[in-house]
Amino acid sequence: MRMAFWKARGNGSEQPNVETSSEARSPESSAGQIASQSLPGSHIDHILSDIYARTSPLQDGALANYIPELANVPPNTFGIAMATTKGRVHTIGDADFEFTIQSTSKALSYCMALELCGRNEVEFSPITRRPYNPMVNAGAIAMSGMLRDTLGAAAAFDLILERFSQAAGRPLRLNEEVYRSETLTGHRNRAIAHLLLSAGALKEPVEPALDLYFKQCSIMATPTDLAMIGATIANLGVHPVTGQQIFDIDAVRDTQSVMFSCGMYDYSGGWTYEVGIPAKSGVGGGILGVVNRQLGIGTYSPRPDRNGNSVRGIESFKMMSNVLGLHAFDLTNTGSAFVNSFFETGEA
Ligand code: GLN
Repeated sequence: MRMAFWKARGNGSEQPNVETSSEARSPESSAGQIASQSLPGSHIDHILSDIYARTSPLQDGALANYIPELANVPPNTFGIAMATTKGRVHTIGDADFEFTIQSTSKALSYCMALELCGRNEVEFSPITRRPYNPMVNAGAIAMSGMLRDTLGAAAAFDLILERFSQAAGRPLRLNEEVYRSETLTGHRNRAIAHLLLSAGALKEPVEPALDLYFKQCSIMATPTDLAMIGATIANLGVHPVTGQQIFDIDAVRDTQSVMFSCGMYDYSGGWTYEVGIPAKSGVGGGILGVVNRQLGIGTYSPRPDRNGNSVRGIESFKMMSNVLGLHAFDLTNTGSAFVNSFFETGEA
């Protein structure tokens, strides 16, 4: 795993942000570090409650019903969580409600495949015959195949669960019922796997690769977990509270690039334009967002739209992006403090 070079060199010039859990989460600790450095934490809480109040009445979209477990979730559940790269957490609503992460897992398994198999192997091109987009099922199943080929199916899932848990900062678990249902009903995914096999993008046997894919989709997490995972990615792969390097630094960059351009299915272009935050949605209702070097955002509300993205999730992300100036190209998003520090210290 490649880490931040200052860490590898033992050069303490600039560190990814790490604070202890107690300091980081203490309500007394000073200013919130979200986007605008001068906003106190209580302002963030007011902004979140306002956004929550405005988006809660939305009833559009329909519960995913391809398996009973998703059709039976409480349809009005709604939680938003933000975690800064300093480890401060702000939440509203059902931020501790557990749901299956579904396709939000695709961003993380892609990140792991980049690290473990190498960028050249993972490359999406007509030459490798691998699908271009690892944020949709075909690309994600090809990634599962690569992780399976590299580690073996059982060890690959153990590592996925371990890394996802380390990034969330607590042990996550598999929802056995959802996993069983996904396996029993996943005929479309099986068909995709066979098409990948015929194209040479997946090796035989396809079933263990599919099994890995179904399992990663069936991991349970909360909006707060998604926010901490996002904050870990935003913090160059280092968990903001534990200080542990969870994801490879180069893989984190590539992963955010793909999330930015294609994390929201057929709405990806509109999302990039209107929200401008690298993100990945899941049909269960979760959205994972990453504001590079600043924060992670997790939302959960079931009832996705026809593109498979949570309706309340989209609207609340739009408002967060607008109010806090989080769009990648917004004038309030000042970019990398690391690059700025070169100029301040005259190193470049
Ligand atoms: N398990 C689901 C599937 O592959 C995930 C889909 C999604 O979240 N969009 O069908």
